[in-house]
Amino acid sequence: MSNKPKTIRQMWSEKPGELEMRYNPIFELDGDDVLIKVAYTGICPWDVRAFTGKSSVAFPRVLGHESSGYVADMGKNVHDLTPGQPVTADFIVKCGICKACRRGRPNRCQNPTYQQFGGGYGDYIRIPRKNVYPLRPTTSMKAAAFMEPLACVWRGEKMLNLQPGDTALIVGAGPIGLMHMQVARLFGAQVIVSDLLDARLQKARELGADWIVNPSQKDVGAFVEEVTDGWGVDAAVIAVGAARLVEQTLTYLAPGGRLNIFAGVYPKDQLHIDPNLIHYGEFILTGSADSTPEDMTRSLMLIENGQVNVESLISHLLPLEELGKGFEIVQNTAGLKVMIKVNGEAP
Ligand SMILES: [Zn+2]
Ligand SMILES: [Zn+2]
Repeated sequence: MSNKPKTIRQMWSEKPGELEMRYNPIFELDGDDVLIKVAYTGICPWDVRAFTGKSSVAFPRVLGHESSGYVADMGKNVHDLTPGQPVTADFIVKCGICKACRRGRPNRCQNPTYQQFGGGYGDYIRIPRKNVYPLRPTTSMKAAAFMEPLACVWRGEKMLNLQPGDTALIVGAGPIGLMHMQVARLFGAQVIVSDLLDARLQKARELGADWIVNPSQKDVGAFVEEVTDGWGVDAAVIAVGAARLVEQTLTYLAPGGRLNIFAGVYPKDQLHIDPNLIHYGEFILTGSADSTPEDMTRSLMLIENGQVNVESLISHLLPLEELGKGFEIVQNTAGLKVMIKVNGEAP
């Protein structure tokens, strides 16, 4: 496209805790690359953890990995996209040849490439064609920016092997928990959602939760007993990074119950659990992290088919300059999804 600028805005982090708007040269493209003009980028708790120095990612860096946008230019080997086409992207380029990639877990790729200097908090990103997901022309660009987090949720829910009629407990009703709740319902489960914030529980209700419970007001174990006639929950997701919640929730599981530790726990912690609970309960304890291209594809289907309502999870829409404020909002759990309007919809 001819109206490609020479410089682009990027919210640059020289090191954790630092954020400034910089004007950097636009990316040069390799043959298989696609240049995308970013429409929206969602703020992920992962970004905030990196920004606050609580993860080991490399700096300097432009954060942001949940973006939608429009094709602006393509390398010479890319023939199946057209300029202006709406797309979304997977920001982690999997190597495709390591053992993890070849054993069906590309989400655990041993040689991944991150977009260290080309994250979604900038006007443009550059990504290989294989990481670009074309959108239907009618898809909401804000909704499309949820492809990555919903892909992770989808992966976690798949592992729970939910059957229609099962009861699932989702611990934590942030954007991630609210997506888990919706996907668990798609699998036919009835869902209990617990959270300390009543506003979040209200949102869970609006989006279809069968029951909501605030642990500051009610004992969750007693509540689970009551609504499941003493059976317990068939599955649970811990969408809050807290070891104590894993220990507690394990005691609410029904025989054959499955539990997914979905959120990473920082600072590091240990579990203290009675192995007999797992032995006699025949429990399955699992985790899930990131997502595969297959999960991304499925996530996009759920968004584009309107089967998971992601757009209503947006509580704040901020311009790129206010990214720092957005990080604060996420850190203080003062809203739900905070989304950065980088360039917005194409005119
Ligand atoms: Zn994310
Ligand atoms: Zn790999």
